[in-house]
Amino acid sequence: MAKNGLLIQYDWCTGCHACEVACKQEHNFPVGMCGIKVNELVSKAPDKVYVDYTVAVTRFCDLCAERVKGKDVPACVKHCQATCIKYGPLAALVKEQEKQPRTSLFAPK
Ligand code: SF4
Ligand code: SF4
Repeated sequence: MAKNGLLIQYDWCTGCHACEVACKQEHNFPVGMCGIKVNELVSKAPDKVYVDYTVAVTRFCDLCAERVKGKDVPACVKHCQATCIKYGPLAALVKEQEKQPRTSLFAPK
């Protein structure tokens, strides 16, 4: 069976943290634990301030194993309004990544 993963297109991330909330609710994680973490990076140029968001998938992500059994998509995918998280077979995500700037790919153990 094809192994699945997540492709995060963080170029589109608005930093809304909905993916973190959805992941915590789905798994009932205690404070401090989550399957996904949004990081804010602030860069200062002489005349501007740039804010970038990067999204990291943590060791606690199980790709929503129970949820996807029912053919639903992972909670973070469903609740990202910017649609920057994709779930699917790793081989297809790798191909997709070649076309997309500023992305990261998560493959589970
Ligand atoms: S796939 Fe599920 S467990 Fe993994 S980060 Fe998304 S919501 Fe959390
Ligand atoms: S839900 Fe989507 S847009 Fe919001 S922080 Fe997470 S990855 Fe970024």
